[in-house]
Amino acid sequence: MKLKKCPSCNSYTLKENCNKCKIKTKEAHYKFIKIKNAPKSTAEFFKK
Ligand SMILES: [Zn+2]
Repeated sequence: MKLKKCPSCNSYTLKENCNKCKIKTKEAHYKFIKIKNAPKSTAEFFKK
């Protein structure tokens, strides 16, 4: 499975087409992935 990225809404997906925009996605590289929406409490969660 390859990770794909929508060039329109910049969301990542594994599908050939974006769920939101219904357009064809492009290949993305894992190193560019950043978890923007992760809550700050996640860090504390992993400490326990
Ligand atoms: Zn999209």
